Amino acid sequence: MAFSCWGALNSCKGKRGRGETQTEELATNNVRLFSYNSLRSATGDFHPSNRIGGGGFGVVHRGVLRDGTRVAIKSLSAESKQGASEFLTEINMISNIRHPNLVQLVGCCVEGSNRILVYEYLENNSLASVLLGSKGKHVTLNWPQRAAICMGTASGLAFLHEEAEPHIVHRDIKASNILLDENFHPKIGDFGLAKLFPDNVSHISTRVAGTIGYLAPEYALLGQLTKKADVYSFGVLILEIISGSSSSKSAFGEDMLVLVEWTWKLREEGRLLDIVDTELAEYPKDEVLRFMKVALFCTQAASHRRPAMKQVVEMLSKEVNLNEKLLTEPGVYRTHTSRSRQLSGSASEEASSSQAYKGKQFVDDTFATTTQLSISDSVTQMFPR
Ligand code: ATP
Repeated sequence: MAFSCWGALNSCKGKRGRGETQTEELATNNVRLFSYNSLRSATGDFHPSNRIGGGGFGVVHRGVLRDGTRVAIKSLSAESKQGASEFLTEINMISNIRHPNLVQLVGCCVEGSNRILVYEYLENNSLASVLLGSKGKHVTLNWPQRAAICMGTASGLAFLHEEAEPHIVHRDIKASNILLDENFHPKIGDFGLAKLFPDNVSHISTRVAGTIGYLAPEYALLGQLTKKADVYSFGVLILEIISGSSSSKSAFGEDMLVLVEWTWKLREEGRLLDIVDTELAEYPKDEVLRFMKVALFCTQAASHRRPAMKQVVEMLSKEVNLNEKLLTEPGVYRTHTSRSRQLSGSASEEASSSQAYKGKQFVDDTFATTTQLSISDSVTQMFPR
């Protein structure tokens, strides 16, 4: 149950100083403040049976507020050591960002060292568990549902990139961050959270805040974070939605290619539709091919050749012919270990040193040699601004 921010701050701090008064004013603008006790009772004292997930940002519990509203309660991990005022500034910013395809922040709790976020609850869990999850959680989605998930996610991301104030690069677009409501409509979660963590403490232990399998090579290797890194990850997501395969857990063909490489290879061989999920009994071939081509445009090595998300929305929604001649080459980033994980025994070394596909491959120099990013600018920009 929410309570007034005066009450909240009084209860946790006792006598108020000037800074605290400012914090209270900040909080009253947009943010609903919850006491730690109210969240404890909403989650049955954070009972393990109510734990619905845990990621790099912290643990997530389902909860029911006193008025009966179901919520997802994310207790941020220790790395988020911001003061209450700084924290609330960020929270205010996030809670101002509203779009049907973004998970809505309901409020937060700032008591002592606790930094807890309260979100609307999405009934059907994440796309990762529905599409790629184990048998108990897996649901077979038909093509209209998959197409709607692609479209909705694209709209939410376009909004973050181009309409939200300030514009936000998500950094970690992936199936477990796409949540599904009772009608399987998608909402993007975890946006804006990277700002809650100090720059030098990424929520994962690598230098970039993203997930292997979805990382744009220029972001993974050079730390170049632009909206186009999200566009790349979104392209990978489309391929997962069409193939029903996880980009980070699956390997394809004799050469154990990752999903992006495999799709580009199939395109070269004129058999793109081979990638379609065998669970999809019926689907409109033209539309599926168009979505796959959008994914190809998004996963190009040269970030400036990837479309902006607004263009992606158009490319997905209209029956347009996409000019494949404009496609250049795929960008693929993997670590030596990510490849090894997909392989067993001696096959591992062999495959990691082979150049099975001639697209641009980027191997993290922490583990092996680095292919420098050398992108030709000789071709005119495909997507003029
Ligand atoms: P990481 O944060 O490291 O990228 P992640 O995305 O899996 O990993 P979280 O965003 O913390 O981690 O979410 C963990 C899981 O909790 C999600 O995959 C989903 O199953 C569940 N979850 C998160 N938010 C909600 C929500 N609003 N409604 C329902 N379930 C949620």
